[in-house]
Amino acid sequence: MTAMHKLAELDHQYVWHPFTQMRDWLKREPIVIVSGKGAVLRDARNREYLDANASIWTNLHGHGHPQINAAVRKQLGKIAHSSALGFANEPASLLANRLVSVAGQGKPGLAKVFFSDDGSTAMEVALKLAYVHAQRTGRAKRPRFLSLQGAYHGDTVGAVGLGHIDLFHKTYAGLLFKTDQVMAPYCYRCPFNRAKPERADAREYRKCNHECIDLIEKRFAVQKRKGNPYAAFVIEPLMQGAAGMIPQPRGWLGRVAEIARSEGAQLIADEVMTGFGRTGIPARQNQSRNFAAMPDAHAGLELCAPSATTAAISSRSLFACQHEGVQPDYLCVAKGLTGGYLPMAATLTTQAVFDAFLGDYSEFKTFFHGHSFTGNQLGAAAALASLNVLQSGASLRARQRLQQTFTEQLQSLWSLPQVGDIRQVGLMAGIELVKDWRTRAPFKLREQAGIRVCEAMGRRGVLTRPIGNVIVLMPPYCMTAAQVARMVGALHESIGEAL
Ligand SMILES: *Cc1c(COP(=O)(O)O)cnc(C)c1O
Repeated sequence: MTAMHKLAELDHQYVWHPFTQMRDWLKREPIVIVSGKGAVLRDARNREYLDANASIWTNLHGHGHPQINAAVRKQLGKIAHSSALGFANEPASLLANRLVSVAGQGKPGLAKVFFSDDGSTAMEVALKLAYVHAQRTGRAKRPRFLSLQGAYHGDTVGAVGLGHIDLFHKTYAGLLFKTDQVMAPYCYRCPFNRAKPERADAREYRKCNHECIDLIEKRFAVQKRKGNPYAAFVIEPLMQGAAGMIPQPRGWLGRVAEIARSEGAQLIADEVMTGFGRTGIPARQNQSRNFAAMPDAHAGLELCAPSATTAAISSRSLFACQHEGVQPDYLCVAKGLTGGYLPMAATLTTQAVFDAFLGDYSEFKTFFHGHSFTGNQLGAAAALASLNVLQSGASLRARQRLQQTFTEQLQSLWSLPQVGDIRQVGLMAGIELVKDWRTRAPFKLREQAGIRVCEAMGRRGVLTRPIGNVIVLMPPYCMTAAQVARMVGALHESIGEAL
């Protein structure tokens, strides 16, 4: 046993880690990351690892990207930060313009950008704006919010209130405001899915009558009858992340957005995880044989999806909402905004919401919210550079190739009896581990199946974090085919070893 690394010792002595039982943490030497290049992280002992969850879903183009590094350096030569309270600045102005243009794809809708620091604050901003907007437009005196079962929207108190992860709600019950939840489409464990387990993504073989959508319709109707219709419906479009990588069947998003709209509710899209190309190339546009060959079990739902808008979907779509032609009233982005380089977030909203806050000074209609680092120049410069990379032909082609390789590699996992469901949406996937795929019998949380598998992956030089029994794979877009094979291979071996 070698002595603990000095930096690891200091960590043990002073640092308190997020979402971590520190008693367990203190039992062993932590990996101390000192540098990164592309999809590879290097630690203080000079060991190398694949960054298989893109540094908790933030990194887009890999570490140490020359274009982003150069942009941050260039900005640093001018100024690192000045306040958005009272002053405008160069990169924030440019970035706001750019975000409105990529989010709108030429259509009117999202027109204004409120900057903040992370996903939670982007959600807090949307929540407060929607709350005040509902009051000022006369929709509700005490605006109520509807969100999805298992939803995760961040860790500040308002954002936790919008989420529905029981453990967090129990812990902070007395602090939270009340929101309603409605069934999320979790096809693999849906009580309405009558299909026996198959060796495929449960969305492809499910048998149901879209009861989850009926429940949403009913929920809106019941609330309206109570005389207090919902102010807003909050969703993580296409894939719920921290809920356990729960993807929505095709057509679901378009249909529920339509329901919310027809009830007059606003739509808050939390694209903190899904934004900036993470949801991949829309299926229709993807010419790869995998997608062409995919049996379409969603025909029923697709009938409901507004087909006129799907024509507008292009391979240039960077947001999950755009895959189904949905225009939210609030679009919240963070994690990948700066390519995962610096903490920065944005809440995009409409002219109508903006206008509800206009008035004479003495009317005090001002949006009373802000952060010291709102509109930070270094972050905005990194974000602009990241968008340049993202919109280049080279990145688009690399992402198309990565998506195809990723799909192909993931298929190898079906040979394992402990793999119950493989849920890929574009450039991310959740692999749900079960005791036996034929029964879908889950591991108990205290068996730590996910944790044990990820530890075994770590020993093989591949780093990711589980969500309960779900293993998350989220490659940086620069990951090579060989690295993808190594990442999935390590998961394959680790499941064999740990379970
Ligand atoms: C990570 C995440 C958040 C919270 O973002 P932070 O930057 O961690 O505050 C909110 N919503 C979703 C969907 C997320 O994945």
